[in-house]
This record gives sequence, C-alpha cells and structure tokens, in this order.
Amino acid sequence: MAPSLSNLTILSLPYISFLLQAIVLAVGASGHPHQEHLQTIVQRKTTPENHIRIRAGAPFKIALFADLHFGENAWTDWGPQQDVRSIKVMSSVLDTETPDFVVYLGDVITANNIPIANASLYWDQALSPTRSRGIPWASVFGNHDDAPFVWPIEWFSAPGIPQLVCPVVNSSYSGELECSFRGTSRLALMKNEMDNNLLSFSRNGPKDLWPGISNYVLQVLSVETPQTPLVYLYFLDSGGGTYPEVISSAQVEWFKRLSEEINPDSRVPELIFWHIPSKAYKKVAPIFRIRQPCVGSINKEKVAAQEAEMGIMKILVERPSIKAVFVGHNHGLDWCCPYRKVWLCFARHTGYGGYGNWPRGSRILEINEDPFSVESWIRMEDGSVHSKVILT
Ligand SMILES: [Zn+2]
Repeated sequence: MAPSLSNLTILSLPYISFLLQAIVLAVGASGHPHQEHLQTIVQRKTTPENHIRIRAGAPFKIALFADLHFGENAWTDWGPQQDVRSIKVMSSVLDTETPDFVVYLGDVITANNIPIANASLYWDQALSPTRSRGIPWASVFGNHDDAPFVWPIEWFSAPGIPQLVCPVVNSSYSGELECSFRGTSRLALMKNEMDNNLLSFSRNGPKDLWPGISNYVLQVLSVETPQTPLVYLYFLDSGGGTYPEVISSAQVEWFKRLSEEINPDSRVPELIFWHIPSKAYKKVAPIFRIRQPCVGSINKEKVAAQEAEMGIMKILVERPSIKAVFVGHNHGLDWCCPYRKVWLCFARHTGYGGYGNWPRGSRILEINEDPFSVESWIRMEDGSVHSKVILT
C-alpha cells in the first residue's frame, strides 16, 4: 500500500510549523497501521518538552553511540567507574557536536554481568546524557543486551560459592532490585525505554518478528517540504543474546515490503542501522592497513559477522536509495568500505565497558538535503576528529 495523502496531512498539522525539521515515526508494522502510529507520535511530539530544534537550513546531524556495555561487574569498584567514564565520553561528544539525534547502536548494557531483575536500571543510565540535553534518540539491540547472567569463574575458586549480593545502584530509575539470572527480555527493556522517555523514538517492531524487537523505521522531514522526507532511517534487530545472530528471512520480507510501500520509487535516500555486521563486511574488510576506497583509523581485529546471510544484503544493494549500513559489535574496527554501491560502516567503540582499550569515540553522520549528501567522521573523546568520508 502506498502512503496515503492523509498521512502527510497529519504530518503537516500545526505542530510542524514550530519545528524547522521533525523526525516522525512512519511505519511500525507490516500492512497498514502506519497512520495510527503517526497519530500517536504526533501527539507525543507535541508535548512542550519534546521539540526537535534544528536551525533553518542546517544539516541534520546524528551521533552513533555503539557498545557502551553499561552494568559490568557492578559488585566491584571498577565496573561503575567504567560507566562513569562512558557517560563522560557521550557528554563530550554531545557537547562538541551538538547532534540533532542519537542512535544507540546496540550492546547498551552487558546483561551477562547484570544479576538484577530489571536491567533497565543500567539501560536508563546509558540514555541519561542524551536525555538530559534534550536530544531525541532511537536504539537497537545488540547481542549483550538481553543475555542471561553468567557467574564470574573466579567466584568458584574461593572456598565455596559466595553469596550473591545484588548491586544497589544510585539512580532515579525505579527498577526492581531483586536478583535474576535470566536477563531482562528485549521487550521489557524496550517497553521501559518507551514508557519513560518522551524523547525516545525506539519501537518494539511488529509482533510477527519477535523475538527480534528493534525493527522499525523513522522518517526525517524538513518543514519546507513535508511531502518529501529528507531520509528514511531503518533499524533492524540483528539478534544475539537469547537467539541466533541473524537478520532473519522474516525480517528481510518485512523490510522489502515496508520499503516498497513507503518509498516505492526509491526517491528518498535510506540509511540502515543494526548491531552485528553482516557477512558482506568480511568481503570488503581491509587486509591490514586501511586503504582507499576504505576510510577509517583502526583495523585491529577480524569482522565478527552474523551467523548466516538470509537475503538482506541482496535487497540492500539492489535498492538504489540505500546509501549506507552502520553497525557496532567489533570494538577494534571503525572503517567504512564500499560494497558495490552501498557503504558498509562500523561505528566507533563509545563505552568503557566491553573488551579493548582503543580510545573511545563516536561516529557522526551529517545529512544535507539539497543536494543530498551524507558526510561522516569520528569524534573522539578528547575532541579530535578523523576519518572524514562522504557516503553518497
Ligand atoms: Zn560490544
């Protein structure tokens, strides 16, 4: 079904007049329910504290926060210190770049280190620097986000197994604090985020794709031409944790149907976000040094790709409007390489949690409307910038 005029009418209602640019959830599920979703979002976004303010004629800028890994070893001093350092990284990036939007690109928390019943406590901490600056965001799941608790092996080397003391975390978030070893489900994490944050554009995605949850699309609209979106942002759940690390054939079908429905002639450019690199990343990976046409600064490990390729890449390369795919997962890689006509990019390890000691940073995307372009670079924690590349 093609997007009906009524959808666009909804988008041009008065609220849009005080926005120079707006992001609106367009379609959350297969079939036809996007009109209903649009109305919901428009209502939410009319609340006064929830405007997306962008200067006239300014580019639309997104910061990617990848692999924050909040909540590691909370029973030690070391763990919470890492989270404090991760907050500093995000704060530094947000203050230097002042992005219009943030994408949390998975592994927001290290759930296999979190023995409390509701890991949203840590998820919420990871969102806090963005929320406190009034910047809207969207998130996708990584393989660590809903993993069950794994007992540290050193706990078994002392005489007997020590009593587990669930960590008490200083947070305004009213999560449950009792112990749990099963992890917090993707659905619970996402519901907590959506229910408690007006600035969140994240979605549960269509039910027939569950247990993959973070499958949805956002459209970026400029107020001057609300009938033509600037760009579509697609978010997919690449699995891991409680189920296989794949983009399933059901997700492929969903993406195909949805993209043909909302952007039938591929007129509007499209960008893709998920956590675990697809196998195509292996095909384009630099062997040793990063050379043209690839652009990046670290190539320190092998691509840890999804378990199988079930057709998503074929669709992406054949669709003229797809410009780039952005993933996290590999903390020691930050390059972009072309794969046929689509750029495959890693973000940059943002958090102090997770493996690796490469300096932390954030991949930035700057989208310009006329003519359309996507420029990207990496902003480091210390304020430096590198690896500028044009992705269109
Ligand atoms: Zn990670």
